[in-house]
Amino acid sequence: MKWKDVIITLAALGAMAVVSLWAYRHVTRPPQDLCRVCDRPLHGGVTYRLELRAGKEDACCPRCGMHYQIEHPGAVKKAWATDLSTGKFIPAESAFYVEGGDIEYCTRHATFLQHEPQGAKVREYDRCLPSLVAFRTAQEAEAYRSQHGGTVLSYQQAMERVKAL
Ligand SMILES: [Zn+2]
Repeated sequence: MKWKDVIITLAALGAMAVVSLWAYRHVTRPPQDLCRVCDRPLHGGVTYRLELRAGKEDACCPRCGMHYQIEHPGAVKKAWATDLSTGKFIPAESAFYVEGGDIEYCTRHATFLQHEPQGAKVREYDRCLPSLVAFRTAQEAEAYRSQHGGTVLSYQQAMERVKAL
């Protein structure tokens, strides 16, 4: 009888472990909306939406979305950037962008592999960097730039910069 109790207890503990593992994966970490390009979670304010023939896909930031456009020429019917001021989608071609400001939306919580030649930390290449954010008007882009640094770019200029990096 003793052994039977032990086996029942172990079976119960095993079942609890399975259930808690399942809960950990499925309940405490709900499936998040992830970037189509880099698999990072999407953030309000910087999401970049791609209208493809197969439907809509979201990228975590304009930089990721533009990478996709460059790598899949012709696949994207229309692209929408999020106006950081209002959180609303705006046509990507008419948006104004700030590249390289000091807020890194996509990578804030990420850990980086770092090389340390002569003690200097060098960040690994990251496709979301330098940061790229969008605004509906040039004035708002300029106001952001004056607070956070970086460079104001048109859509064409931003595309050229993404292509080059
Ligand atoms: Zn991404």
